[in-house]
Amino acid sequence: MKLSGHEILKIDREHLWHPYASMKCPVTPFPVESASGVRLRLSDGRELIDGMSSWWTAIHGYNHPVLNLAAEEQLKSMSHVMFGGLTHGPAAGLASLLLELVPAPLDKIFFSDSGSVAVEVAMKLAVQYWHSLGKPEKKRFLALRSGYHGDTAGAMSVCDPVTGMHGLFSDMVQENYFAEAPQCRFDASWDDSYIAGFRKLLVEHDDIAAVIMEPVMQGAGGMRFYSPEYLVKARELCDEHGVLLIFDEIATGFWRTGKLFAFHHPKSTIVPDILCLGKAMTGGYVSLAATITTENISDAISESAPRAFMHGPTFMANPLACSISAASIRLLGTYPMEDIILKLEGALRRFLAPALRLPNVADVRVLGGVGVIETRRPVDMESMTMRLACKGVWLRPFGRLVYTMPPYVIAGSDLERLAVSMVEAVEEEG
Ligand SMILES: *Cc1c(COP(=O)(O)O)cnc(C)c1O
Repeated sequence: MKLSGHEILKIDREHLWHPYASMKCPVTPFPVESASGVRLRLSDGRELIDGMSSWWTAIHGYNHPVLNLAAEEQLKSMSHVMFGGLTHGPAAGLASLLLELVPAPLDKIFFSDSGSVAVEVAMKLAVQYWHSLGKPEKKRFLALRSGYHGDTAGAMSVCDPVTGMHGLFSDMVQENYFAEAPQCRFDASWDDSYIAGFRKLLVEHDDIAAVIMEPVMQGAGGMRFYSPEYLVKARELCDEHGVLLIFDEIATGFWRTGKLFAFHHPKSTIVPDILCLGKAMTGGYVSLAATITTENISDAISESAPRAFMHGPTFMANPLACSISAASIRLLGTYPMEDIILKLEGALRRFLAPALRLPNVADVRVLGGVGVIETRRPVDMESMTMRLACKGVWLRPFGRLVYTMPPYVIAGSDLERLAVSMVEAVEEEG
């Protein structure tokens, strides 16, 4: 049964929920027929250059022959088998690849189906670790304002309590501690006063299990870039105060900020106790996430009752997802990524710079493969999206942010069209 664009829209309007959307007065979505390279083909025949990489995921573009082949090959053996009591090559293969990418002592991997679940797993690992060491009172978290970590209950409790989109649920989630969002811009020179509030919370509270943060770039909470030195100091403070450190690299991982992982930005090597990966991990094909931790933590959890780590998703380590993810990571390994991201960053800077002169623009910032125009007043998402689509570009602005994180394979001419359209659309919106 092939539905027309009109039929799709009718069913969609009557029955389908969209992210953060109303069923009563929904914004009309664009029906997509197919996607290839960096282009989305709509059912009315229009083609849009994709500036979103489907929310950080489609780093190689769409319909990529290498990832298609990995999927097809895996389908011939098995799409899925349960991970309870069974194991398989796709999981083991992906684990080996990931462990080559992350520094020691990160060594133990928990595969789950989405970023939010990877965050839940990280939080539960931290709580169960302290429980095993006889410190069950350490069960709260210290997070950063303007942070975003997902939509499930645990993850909601560490999102910014005001701008985190979950204020409505504040009574049902655990109350955690929040430090001021990092104020030092990415390139700014460091001063210890930037982390004074964070330090104070660690000094005052001894019930903190872990700190959780998005290293260097806070994404959905405001597209803010901050100094890598913050990570170095956070690591020192966590060690000093006996608190675990969780890095949520779900958006930043796999080169998006200019390094393989954002926590590679500091000159000295720092390693979190728990690392969350997701989004780009499968090149945007299927949902898969990973939570990676140390032997120290897995040993502690294994040595006291209940000895097992208490989590186990139905689709854990799905073979299809693992195979595609492994192919995506191998493909990344064949690219000169450092070069590619530098060029992308340079081009975004060049093409977005003219926006700085617009009266309604508060800031223009670029880091790695992320370009942001921050306006002075919130933009009307629907009219802005339409305006951009008329220029042949797919973007989804929110709040005061018109931003892009295009697929890494985007051609120079497409990138120019994308960025120039952003500047024009912001100017026309006034
Ligand atoms: C998107 C995101 C998540 C949640 O991932 P889902 O796959 O949407 O559940 C968590 N943390 C960060 C930093 C994210 O950007």
